[in-house]
Amino acid sequence: MRFLSRKPGLERIWQICIILIATSSFLSAKDWDIVTIEGREYVTATNVANFYKIERLERQGNKRIFRHPSLIMEWTIGTQAIYVNRIKFNLSLNIAEIKGHALISTVDLAKLIDPVVRPSYIKKPIDFDTVVIDPGHGGHDTGAKGRKGFEKNYNLDLSLRLKSALERRGFRIVMTRSDDRFIELGHRVAIANAQKRAIFISIHHNSTAGRTATGVETYALAPQGTASTNEANRAGWSSSLSGNIRDAENIALATAVHAHVIHDLKPTDRGIKRARFNVLRGINKPAILYEGGFLTNPTEAAKIHDPAYRQRTAESIANAVVKFKSAVGKK
Ligand SMILES: [Zn+2]
Repeated sequence: MRFLSRKPGLERIWQICIILIATSSFLSAKDWDIVTIEGREYVTATNVANFYKIERLERQGNKRIFRHPSLIMEWTIGTQAIYVNRIKFNLSLNIAEIKGHALISTVDLAKLIDPVVRPSYIKKPIDFDTVVIDPGHGGHDTGAKGRKGFEKNYNLDLSLRLKSALERRGFRIVMTRSDDRFIELGHRVAIANAQKRAIFISIHHNSTAGRTATGVETYALAPQGTASTNEANRAGWSSSLSGNIRDAENIALATAVHAHVIHDLKPTDRGIKRARFNVLRGINKPAILYEGGFLTNPTEAAKIHDPAYRQRTAESIANAVVKFKSAVGKK
């Protein structure tokens, strides 16, 4: 119970890469008892707990709770949502069950769990000094129409604040746009790919039919050629970790940004998601798309309209980039 009472938060997510560093240096088949369900490979919660040397694995009905001094991870059988230190992640496949055992797909283990809990194990991580910031929409493409303004303007303002915040932290910044103009998606990709040692952050705000939806969600963009879920499932166990370096960095970057914002600004947590859409595909850098709340919700629209809130968001994302760099970078 000791660590239950501690405040959950970001530091504990990133501590884990230090604490768990004593585990095996890579995921190899001998560490795992693979269970095949409908042609897909899974491993049990017990196997996961043993591999990461997690102190306790509890069963509470459909839930499986992994407890470690720096980690609380919660799975629910039959769902795709898992929580790592109270931050929501969306799996590719549901947590399965066989005879009381909870099982996670090897794809989700290799592509989501492992890079999140052990970012320092990402192979050949990018050593970056540049952040390409992409304010979504612009010009005639207004994006979401908020109650108090257009998405394109909020995206640009938050992006310019992020630029300053990152420059103060020593990064070089390239903007895909710095004023209110229309830029084709392909041009945004070209700007990103022209940079050598860079990561890419696209800034958006959300909208939906109705007024009730709220919250922040962060998309890890799947790199070129790996976007399809079918392909992920075909990738197989050994290749899924070793063959797709950027994918792990994408999820680690998304985790850093999302966890910082959820911790610092306390919006509704809609989770870290894998991009299933084609926007900005083709970027060969670690890349995420941040959706900073719903302009269609009156309360959230008022927050986003407040320059102080946008400034706090910018500082939070900038701190996340620093954390990401130190977590994946060469020690
Ligand atoms: Zn948008």
